[in-house]
Amino acid sequence: MPHTIVTDICEGIADCVSACPVACIHPGPGKNVKGTDWFWIDFATCIDCGICVQVCPVTDAIVGEERPELQKTPK
Ligand code: SF4
Ligand code: SF4
Repeated sequence: MPHTIVTDICEGIADCVSACPVACIHPGPGKNVKGTDWFWIDFATCIDCGICVQVCPVTDAIVGEERPELQKTPK
């Protein structure tokens, strides 16, 4: 199942972006409720490897299931 970045927990550190083997983590526009940059995962491309969870320093910023209600996208 694809992973989800919780938009309002993400702090925009972007360690996940370069770690993702299929480059499916993208920057969102503007700031989140924390006032930081934020990123989102393209569910259609994510291969569910879990590497993003391992490298993210922010607790609970990424969940290992598809939860579109937790993740904003630019679309
Ligand atoms: S999900 Fe984690 S590693 Fe990725 S941008 Fe957000 S805080 Fe940084
Ligand atoms: S689970 Fe793997 S493929 Fe999916 S966003 Fe995270 S690092 Fe990328």
